[in-house]
Amino acid sequence: MDSILHYLIPILLVVGSVAFMEWFATWSHEHIMHGWGWGWHKSHHEAHEAVLEKNDLYAVVFAVFATALFVASTWWRPLWWIALGITIYGVVYFFMHDGLVHQRWPFKYVPRKGYLKRVYQAHRMHHAVDGRDGCVSFGFVYAEPAAKLRKKLQDKRPGRPVSMGEDQE
Ligand SMILES: [Zn+2]
Ligand SMILES: [Zn+2]
Repeated sequence: MDSILHYLIPILLVVGSVAFMEWFATWSHEHIMHGWGWGWHKSHHEAHEAVLEKNDLYAVVFAVFATALFVASTWWRPLWWIALGITIYGVVYFFMHDGLVHQRWPFKYVPRKGYLKRVYQAHRMHHAVDGRDGCVSFGFVYAEPAAKLRKKLQDKRPGRPVSMGEDQE
């Protein structure tokens, strides 16, 4: 029994932290970044030529927090696994959000099918309207189907057509 727990507890802590981070990322994106934190996030919703965005500071905040947890795990071991889960989520988010959707890497790859296409379209939907208000799809790893999001977007902004251009499914 002891040996099962030895593996089970770390696995649960990591999986739980990753799941919690998706929830927290969704919540904070809607209520902080599109709320009082818009000052940093705005840069992510505007076209620009610069390599970095003020919005990247949020990634720095998360990285500092995860690092602090790794350090604090010297005193309380379980924190190490929680910090690992947060880091895994950050890496996945970075590859999918900054790489796949926003093409911040030097090649272009647009997923044409399956889960990655769904994630791609859902986040394009987040960027389908200008400004801070009336946006949909604040989460990331769990992505709602594009058709459902388009409907939500239309409900939030009646009378305004929602175009996704070439990304129409
Ligand atoms: Zn946003
Ligand atoms: Zn984005």
